[in-house]
Amino acid sequence: MDYKEHIAIVQDWPRKGITFKDITPLMDNGKAFKSAVDEIVDYSKDKEIDLVVGPEARGFIVGCPVSYALEIGFAPVRKEGKLPRDTIKVDYGLEYGKDVLTIHKDAIKPGQRVLIVDDLLATGGTIEATIALVEELGGVVAGCAFLVELTYLDGRKKLDGYDVLTLMQY
Ligand code: 5GP
Repeated sequence: MDYKEHIAIVQDWPRKGITFKDITPLMDNGKAFKSAVDEIVDYSKDKEIDLVVGPEARGFIVGCPVSYALEIGFAPVRKEGKLPRDTIKVDYGLEYGKDVLTIHKDAIKPGQRVLIVDDLLATGGTIEATIALVEELGGVVAGCAFLVELTYLDGRKKLDGYDVLTLMQY
């Protein structure tokens, strides 16, 4: 399927100089959204995944239907102050800014095989931070799946040695 026809390109958002790839038209198209989720599910099937982990907020949108289809759990990675129980945290750099990501301490059991899902790979800062959280809790990152990859930002460099799927590239 040509997913790109369902991505809206928004110039100078959220700041001047950023060309934002808006995935909401893809989410709005039931067939395209299902097909994209199904591709990630198919990619995961032979990886013996125990748990899906996704960073807020669009990682929830893509990750939760994947976990539902695989009949396994989903653990959210969130900005600081959003998760109610004991967390671990990591500082990370964004395409535009700096932030902190957290995960519940009991979200992952040591040795669990984790699929990390997000909507988009840009500089790789978010996925790198999410991997750090998963691995600090003893999880094994069995795969990383994204709808979109911005190849010109070289996020893949941070994913050397990890198994990565991206459904469309710019
Ligand atoms: P990175 O940390 O790889 O630089 O940026 C990826 C993260 O920022 C993802 O969580 C993604 O949701 C968000 N992001 C950055 N740029 C875009 C964009 O152009 N479109 C969308 N949908 N998300 C973006």
